[in-house]
Amino acid sequence: MKPLNSEEIESKLLNAPNSKHNIDLLAEFAFDIQHQEPEKGLEVAERAHSMSEELGYTNGIAVSLKAQAQCLLSLKDYHEAIEKASQAKAIFDNFNNLNGKATSQSLIADGKFALKDYTDSLTAYLDCLKIYEILDDYDMQTQVLSKIGNIYANVGDYRTAISYQIKAISGNPNKISIEVGKVLKKLAELYHQSGKLLASLDYLNKAAIIFKKHNQESSCVDCYERMGLILIQQKEFRKAEQWLMKTHEFRQNTRDDEGLTKSFMNYARYYKDQEDFDQAISMYIQALEKASQIQKQGLIADIRYALGQIYHLIHKDQQAIEEYNQALLICSQVDKMNLCSDIHYSLSMLNETQDNLKEALFHFKQHYDINHKIWRDQKELESKNILFKQEVEESKKEAEIYRLKNVELADANNELKMITLSLEEANREKELLLDRLREQTESLEELVIFDGLTGLANRRHFDEQFKYEFLRAKRYGRTLSVALADIDFFKKVNDTFSHQVGDDVLKTIARIFKSNCRAGDLVARYGGEEFVFLFTETSLENAVLACEKIRHSVQIYDWDTIHEELKITVSMGVANSDNFENQEDLVILSDQKLYEAKNNGRNQVKK
Ligand code: GH3
Ligand code: MG
Ligand code: MG
Repeated sequence: MKPLNSEEIESKLLNAPNSKHNIDLLAEFAFDIQHQEPEKGLEVAERAHSMSEELGYTNGIAVSLKAQAQCLLSLKDYHEAIEKASQAKAIFDNFNNLNGKATSQSLIADGKFALKDYTDSLTAYLDCLKIYEILDDYDMQTQVLSKIGNIYANVGDYRTAISYQIKAISGNPNKISIEVGKVLKKLAELYHQSGKLLASLDYLNKAAIIFKKHNQESSCVDCYERMGLILIQQKEFRKAEQWLMKTHEFRQNTRDDEGLTKSFMNYARYYKDQEDFDQAISMYIQALEKASQIQKQGLIADIRYALGQIYHLIHKDQQAIEEYNQALLICSQVDKMNLCSDIHYSLSMLNETQDNLKEALFHFKQHYDINHKIWRDQKELESKNILFKQEVEESKKEAEIYRLKNVELADANNELKMITLSLEEANREKELLLDRLREQTESLEELVIFDGLTGLANRRHFDEQFKYEFLRAKRYGRTLSVALADIDFFKKVNDTFSHQVGDDVLKTIARIFKSNCRAGDLVARYGGEEFVFLFTETSLENAVLACEKIRHSVQIYDWDTIHEELKITVSMGVANSDNFENQEDLVILSDQKLYEAKNNGRNQVKK
């Protein structure tokens, strides 16, 4: 059965009822004609889209958006293509349709690539690659890896480009898949460009075999054509002719006019390189006819320049100038800077041989200016390439640093948390200990009421007791007396004998004081060699009597048990509570009295 042509399919489908099945067919049809008839494909895809929306058929919406993106890419409307592909991707994402997601992502990448946005393109391709790896889709992995290789080739990094192409084929277990064939052809082109003719021939041969197996005649013939060109370069004209013939026959049979134009040009090259200029000219003229038929301006310019060169070579200067000028005219319309520069150079040479120095100089200047611009563009591309590589490297590095940082940070954080925790714990423990210690110290201090050296009550204890007894005495209208005692010339004891003797004296005095007090009295070490007495229920007179008894006891004490020359006396000042409302004033007064006793010659009691 003869396959339907696109118009037949279109009218059939567009008039078909609005069903999911028909929407799928329309989208598929749009996909099929994306390269040959992208405008029609776009229309069909848009129709499928609106039908899907009417039906609320989400998958149809996504698939038709994807088909629109594909056609838009063919129409070179890259921004719109990216937009549609992104919309499709969002829907596929929602449904977790990995295949749909990967293909739309790949279209986004293609769009970015066409816009020379290589970093974004690479990122998008790497994303699809991951999905195709999950899906175990080796052919798509091959395709995406090859496209990544194209990015590197476009930024002039042929080494990485080739390594990606090789990676693209080596990972595919199906060594004869069409995708592998395409990559082999791509590799052949890269090697041809870099002058590695034998390697290029080898890859072309392999690719051609694969295409032939899959009945991809057109791709197969493309390989033959390039093989022919390489063989011409190698001056293997007989071998070259075989491939040129095969190519030419196929293109004649398929009425491929553009292909035929190229094969005529190849033949011209074939004859020219063998210095058969007439045949070469004849081939170029045939090529020119074909190119004119299909209105391929770029090709026409190429052919005219090549023709001009042959005329130039055989000294048909006038014809050469004519062809050059014609070619130049087209070059100014289509963007072929390199060709333009070459033509100006050739014209400069030709004019120089004719002694048209002014013309020669003009063309040389043009050639120079264009070359300068090409050089600047090249530099720009190179710097873009450097930036691109830097970006890629940096993003790789950043990702790694980020990953490491995260790992490190997590570790460090955990460690920090642990440290903080144990620190907090330690702090809490420390605080607890300190609290306990403080409490203990306080309670210990509170507990300590005795003086370490003498065993008498300490000053704090005295103060507390004194306060309490004074209040009690005042409340109940009772009396009490206070006396301060200070050892006479105690400094001398320390100085004359020793500190040890001093301490012994203090201890002995304390014992003497204690033994001369009643049970209810309190004697305390007030500080240094000063002592204080609290005589409860004791009038001033009785207190003085008690103090005299104490003073006397000290005086008569047998101090030579401590040291033979030792003599100790004390002075005392006494005060009574009766006329005082404040306990502190009582101590001050007794201190004044003590002072008086001292001044009065010591070893006495003053009241
Ligand atoms: P005064 O008759 O005027 O009181 O003369 P003093 O030498 O006693 O003079 P002062 O009160 O200035 O000197 C007291 C001395 O008591 C000074 C200090 O070295 C001594 N002292 C204070 N506490 C102690 C102690 O615990 N042990 C010893 N060995 N000496 C102490
Ligand atoms: Mg003193
Ligand atoms: Mg003293």
